[in-house]
Amino acid sequence: METISAISTARGKGGIAVIRISGDEAIGVASRIFVPIGKTPIDQVRSHSCVYGTVVDNGTRIDDAVLTVFRAPRSYTGEDTVEISCHGGVLVTSRVLEATLSNGARLAGAGEFTKRAFLNGRMTLTEAEAVGGIIDARTDAHLKVSIDQLRGSLSSRIRETIDSLTELVASVYAFIDYPDEDLTELSTDELKTELLKIKKHLTELTGSYRYGKAITEGVPTAIIGKPNAGKSSLLNRLCGFERAIVTEIEGTTRDVITEEVVVGDVLLLLADTAGIRDSDDTIERLGIERSREEMNRSELILAVFDGTKPFSREDEEIVELLRDVCDRTIAVVNKSDETAFDHTALLKMFPKTVVVSAKNGDGIDELVDSICDYLGKADAAGGDVITNARQNSALRNALTHVESALDTLDGFTQDVAAMDIEKAIECLGELDGRTVSEAVVSRIFSKFCVGK
Ligand code: GDP
Repeated sequence: METISAISTARGKGGIAVIRISGDEAIGVASRIFVPIGKTPIDQVRSHSCVYGTVVDNGTRIDDAVLTVFRAPRSYTGEDTVEISCHGGVLVTSRVLEATLSNGARLAGAGEFTKRAFLNGRMTLTEAEAVGGIIDARTDAHLKVSIDQLRGSLSSRIRETIDSLTELVASVYAFIDYPDEDLTELSTDELKTELLKIKKHLTELTGSYRYGKAITEGVPTAIIGKPNAGKSSLLNRLCGFERAIVTEIEGTTRDVITEEVVVGDVLLLLADTAGIRDSDDTIERLGIERSREEMNRSELILAVFDGTKPFSREDEEIVELLRDVCDRTIAVVNKSDETAFDHTALLKMFPKTVVVSAKNGDGIDELVDSICDYLGKADAAGGDVITNARQNSALRNALTHVESALDTLDGFTQDVAAMDIEKAIECLGELDGRTVSEAVVSRIFSKFCVGK
């Protein structure tokens, strides 16, 4: 393989930066630009060990650095790999990179190190995606799920499912092809029982995507309610700092304020909107229109009601407005520190009503739990979580073929169902990368950054 090189640490000033070189000539390139302080030449340094020395280019000293050698196949990429840890200055780092490029390496493309790791069988596609997850994680839950995936938890469950399906197909075909061999036939009922188990497992996994999205991309969330109900205060309470301007004058929040907030395990893309009420003020009317749009766009709505005031006509209108989206709405009765009215009975339409005080934080933990439950935390499949649309689509396709095999068994012979099972195996193969096309692989890795 061609030798590639890139700066693997983030651009900018730092204590240390790492330049990674990988490929057949990695150790050769390193030998040409690195003068070790000890006697051992670079090409004789043992795998997984470091040497201290100087990076030079055309006789010019660039920096003192530590060089680590990883020999194939026991490296990240599966190829000979060298990492040079130099000082983390912008200029010095690019000089070290240039030295590698003028001595036989070419600049790595986006995600090329990880792509090689995948192509060389060092990791499955889901494990490679997990590397991206670890780097991108903004929530603890995303980090945890990505580390689990990198260690192969999802891949091994997928492998087990592929193995089970393969056994089923093999047993069907073996019986048909070698009827005289006394191979025991799997009865149609037995076949169905096995397929139903696999169906349940795949359904759980696809179900975990809702939670997977919530911990990775975030959930568009609208906070709505009439003016002064405490929407901005709730946003600030969830953010943990003063983001929106809170005043006692109605209609302060004229524009939509958005904020990414980690709430419990999940990431909410919160939009605080102008209060919903009829208004002659054109600016405010625009804000109201925007809050309607925001509500329609959102996957989760926090509808805030003021518990210190009687339930008003405006509140009733808001409830009415939410009728079509009530299954994705959590009703929040605010100002419990001063509450005079119990609105919960009037909010029965919503699956969940929580009483809080945005002012002193009472009830906020319960609200956070309700949000996480709504987003499917409780249902996440035995700890395995699907974290991207590609994984989800491959799983859903596999599930469709398993369902189709089950339907087929009701009227046709087992060999017809076996064709559906084979298609399901192919979809699962796409998930972990065994049967994925070169174009898909290239697209996945092109989203990675250079150096990864
Ligand atoms: P918004 O118009 O819905 O965004 O409401 P604000 O967040 O601006 O709050 C309106 C008023 O209600 C402000 O005076 C807040 O201090 C007050 N407020 C908000 N939340 C609470 C609460 O939990 N308890 C009490 N007592 N007052 C609150």
